[in-house]
Amino acid sequence: MNHQPFNEWIYQDATLTEQDEQELKAHLKTCPVCQDNDKAWQDVNGMLKSAPMMPAAPGFVNRWQASLADRRQKELRRQVWMGFLILSGAFLLTLALIILFIVLNHSPVSLFTQVFESLTGAWLVFLEAKASITHWLQTIPPLLIGAGLLVFASWCTVLVLAWNLVFRISSRKGIPTK
Ligand SMILES: [Zn+2]
Repeated sequence: MNHQPFNEWIYQDATLTEQDEQELKAHLKTCPVCQDNDKAWQDVNGMLKSAPMMPAAPGFVNRWQASLADRRQKELRRQVWMGFLILSGAFLLTLALIILFIVLNHSPVSLFTQVFESLTGAWLVFLEAKASITHWLQTIPPLLIGAGLLVFASWCTVLVLAWNLVFRISSRKGIPTK
């Protein structure tokens, strides 16, 4: 059976002329294939019409924007905290490296061994320890102490600045909604 032009007419949006309409109806009565197509197309159209775009709930946009600002604030805070943690980690690492360097070069282990080997009483231990520590401190090159202090001071400055930033951001309350 020839389904044209009926199959085309089923799917076209333009209204058919009276005569075409009659011809289509006559064909649909005799042709199950075009009947199926027509029914399917009407079902699809029905679904499209009965499912209009849901309008956004009132206040939805405002709430969404507020939550976006909130998320950005949290993200910023998280990043600052991450930076602070990284700085602290680097600070501790630097400190550990400095201590390790001093330990490797001046061996406080042998210092303590000396102190405890010459145990002849608490006072003597104290004197020994004091003398040993003084001696130990004197053997550190002044340049090393200066460099160590400089590194320590600059790290302290960085930490104070970072902490100040964290405090300022954390204490900022609420988000302006308008
Ligand atoms: Zn047909």
